[in-house]
Amino acid sequence: MRLFCSFLLTIAALAAEPADWIWTGRYVVTMDPQRRVIENGAIAIRGERILAAGSKSEIERRYQARQRLDRPDAILAPGLIDTHTHAAMSLLRGIADDLRLQDWLEHYIFPAEARNVTPEFVRWGTRLGCLEMLVSGTTTYTDMYYFEDVVAEATKEAGMRGVLGETIIGFPSPDAKTPQDALAFTERFLSRFHDDPLIVPAVAPHAIYTNSDETLQACRALSNRHGAPLVIHLSETKRENEECIAKRKMTPTKALDALGVFNGRTVAAHAVWVDESDLAILKARGVGIAHCPSSNMKLASGVAPVTRMLALDLAVGLGPDGPAGSNNDFNMFEEMDLAAKLQKVFTGDPRNLPAAAAVEMATIRGARALGLEREIGSLEPGKRADLISIRLDRPNAVPLYDVYSQMVYALKGSDVEDVMVNGRLLVRDAQALTLNAAQIEAKASEYREQVQKSLR
Ligand SMILES: [Zn+2]
Repeated sequence: MRLFCSFLLTIAALAAEPADWIWTGRYVVTMDPQRRVIENGAIAIRGERILAAGSKSEIERRYQARQRLDRPDAILAPGLIDTHTHAAMSLLRGIADDLRLQDWLEHYIFPAEARNVTPEFVRWGTRLGCLEMLVSGTTTYTDMYYFEDVVAEATKEAGMRGVLGETIIGFPSPDAKTPQDALAFTERFLSRFHDDPLIVPAVAPHAIYTNSDETLQACRALSNRHGAPLVIHLSETKRENEECIAKRKMTPTKALDALGVFNGRTVAAHAVWVDESDLAILKARGVGIAHCPSSNMKLASGVAPVTRMLALDLAVGLGPDGPAGSNNDFNMFEEMDLAAKLQKVFTGDPRNLPAAAAVEMATIRGARALGLEREIGSLEPGKRADLISIRLDRPNAVPLYDVYSQMVYALKGSDVEDVMVNGRLLVRDAQALTLNAAQIEAKASEYREQVQKSLR
């Protein structure tokens, strides 16, 4: 009998398809079109991609894996997608808070950047940003900064996925004297990271009020020539809108549309001061929106009409924005929580932006905002193996009635235990495997000394 059983097991093993990994968990939150949540579920992975998501018994019957990760008391979910941030500014975290945007920029950020931002600063700042993002469950992030080639190198070294945009701005920056220099830099950057498995290089004109019309149009033409997304700040403050209306007799959304800036893949950050006709344009042009609730609250920028955006089915994702003074961290669990609560207080209706919608914004809807919904954002066969596990054996995680409610209102980034990007395990047992945390944290303290001295 025993011989017969082992014979059957051998037959089963022979019949099973090979996989590199099987992950099992108490709940698998797939975010697939049916929004399946699979109790006692599992994911099979081969190479860079997901083979299948299903019940543990089914996956174990179908696949024979070289490696396993069993988390009987955890949620398995798609990796979280950050649609707007500035990673390297992590080295300026908390440099000055509780100020008006203009004071903060003119007296702290611009002088600190002018005196300190070098390729090495950007490398260490990006490493610190990636470390914090990875251990809190972010697997893809969207960046706008300087020396974006160095950002891309550091992101690849961490093993993370990035939509990375070189900033183009109408005054001298740390890596370009003129917008023409920045455009030339961007063109080299786009060519260098073309077809990279982890990096989507992007063109990032800072905003309408910091660039000439010619530069904005050149940015669109450049991104379309390379099939790259264009990322931009849009209607973040009331002042931006008032100045634009005074100068052009139209809102920033209408002005950018009139310039043709939305004629191609676009991700617009903030969209706080947008009216119904602006939303119609953003919808018609398929513009992805990065909603940044922490930043909008901390800088008193206002509240983006996200409830309305969702009713129109716009591709709205979430972003932490700036670690230096407008947030000051990269925690996507916090952004989900704040996005949901901010819409409730804004509309006076607690039914708006429910937990499941917030998880959607941090995963599949965020992927849509970036134009990457065929590759990431859900746990489905054929998609990139970008996934996380979140512990459920903590006081704040029990009891569990609804996984979405738990993810948005109770669980924290610090509950993330394992992280995989593109089939590669980057965090295990809450420890980063590709980045040297002690070294990065020591370096951050060194930079603090340097930045403080430079401002004296
Ligand atoms: Zn920003």
